[in-house]
Amino acid sequence: MFENSIKAYEDAKKVIPGGVDSPVRAFKSVGGTPPFIQKGEGAYLEDIDGNRYLDFVQSWGPLIFGHCDSDIENAVLETVKKGLSFGAPTVLETELASEIVDMYDNIDKVRFVSSGTEATMSAIRLARGVTGKNDILKFEGCYHGHSDSLLVQAGSGLATFGTPSSPGVPADFTKHTIVCEYNNIESLRKCFKESNDIACIIIEPIAGNMGLVPADEEFLKECRKLCDENNTLLILDEVMSGFRASLTGAHGVIETKGDIVTFGKVIGAGMPVGAFASNDEIMSHLSPEGEIYQAGTLSGNPVAMAAGLVSLKKLKANPSIYDELSAKALKLVNGLKEVASKNNVALQVNTRGSMFGFFFAEKEPKNFKEVSQFCDFDRFAKFHHEMLKKGFYFACSQYEVGFMSTVITEEEINRCIEAADEIMKNF
Ligand SMILES: *Cc1c(COP(=O)(O)O)cnc(C)c1O
Repeated sequence: MFENSIKAYEDAKKVIPGGVDSPVRAFKSVGGTPPFIQKGEGAYLEDIDGNRYLDFVQSWGPLIFGHCDSDIENAVLETVKKGLSFGAPTVLETELASEIVDMYDNIDKVRFVSSGTEATMSAIRLARGVTGKNDILKFEGCYHGHSDSLLVQAGSGLATFGTPSSPGVPADFTKHTIVCEYNNIESLRKCFKESNDIACIIIEPIAGNMGLVPADEEFLKECRKLCDENNTLLILDEVMSGFRASLTGAHGVIETKGDIVTFGKVIGAGMPVGAFASNDEIMSHLSPEGEIYQAGTLSGNPVAMAAGLVSLKKLKANPSIYDELSAKALKLVNGLKEVASKNNVALQVNTRGSMFGFFFAEKEPKNFKEVSQFCDFDRFAKFHHEMLKKGFYFACSQYEVGFMSTVITEEEINRCIEAADEIMKNF
């Protein structure tokens, strides 16, 4: 049933490293051949063998309205007809920025870029420029894109200066990155004892890159407190959770506020968009107003802005969408949990708005180490593969989360739970 994809994968591997343009797409952690996709339609993906899948990946988050939403499609088509890019200001940028400013009360200004990686990289430069400090603090298991200073792994201690996690990153670049354990206040405090040169903490307030692991409220409060006491800025990376966890992302479900917030994924609705945002004072340091340099030839691309704008307007006009998405996400994970326990399979589940996660584990992991230790990765690989064969497309790693979209129906969720039941019977 995967003949064409198998052939396409072989061909791709000849001209593209590993056959993919982003490593996770290669299905390495679950094995097998990644289906090559020829189109999306509503809640479904169709591969080049004609197999159809109910899509819980949503291009890794952006497609909250599913594939080919007609409003977004029309806005894109109309904008495309007027030219693809001008390298000059357009009112679309102001409109999209205004939508974001309007929804977040800690944000006055937004700068658009073309990816989440660019957003966090620029946010960190801004934090360093504003504070005049050099070190940054990140948490093991949080992903903020692939820029050099963020590709670090933790050492053996609770809080350590990172070492590069990829060849090609000089140790000199990561020596300013402190890596700390997520949801561990002791580790956090230790960092601030070891360095008085911390420009920012960067955190996914709802981690979605080690599976779904939300930060404890207490932990986030401690981040906020330590930042306030030490002239350190708090960057809440909402590239994934923004307009996903709620209409105001993680900010809508936690009490802590970030000094700088980063966005991506949903704000581009499937087009390449990222953004970083903050209050007037902090943003005034950014070039051309201030001296901290940051730029992009395609930044604020009109077609991408048009897609994001329609998407955010639709969300804002129908805030009950989030209740529906949350209810559907809950229905799915509760159903999975039920069939798992019926079949004596240990499963931990969680949701935050339209984000959902499940771990094949006896207890709920609270940080990256626990995800690695507690979870049964073989079981996940088997589950993933069997679900794929039954037409359900889940993220191909236990370190990823799932996404609910408006176009997935209750009936489809029921079918998914039934399919999971059949698979778990044979675990
Ligand atoms: C996806 C993601 C990024 C990186 O965004 P890209 O557009 O892939 O560069 C950064 N931070 C978080 C939290 C993400 O989920």
